[in-house]
Amino acid sequence: MHITIDEDKCCAAGQCVLAAPEVFDQRDDDGIVVLLDADPPQAQYAAVRDAAAVCPAAAIAVQE
Ligand code: SF4
Repeated sequence: MHITIDEDKCCAAGQCVLAAPEVFDQRDDDGIVVLLDADPPQAQYAAVRDAAAVCPAAAIAVQE
C-alpha cells in the first residue's frame, strides 16, 4: 500500500486523523493533513482505507 495526499484539496476536517492516527496528523497552524507514513504496515491498511473513505475532500489516494 502506498498513500499520497493532495494538500491543496485538504480542508482540514481531521477525519483521517480520527480514523488512522498512526498514519495521519494535522499541521498545528492550519490543520492541513500531514502524512506520517506513506507506506504503512499491513496492520494499518483497514484504518487507512477508512480514512480515505471518510475524507470529505477526497484528498487521500491509496494504491494497493
Ligand atoms: S480527512 Fe481529508 S480533508 Fe480532512 S484533514 Fe484529512 S485529508 Fe484533510
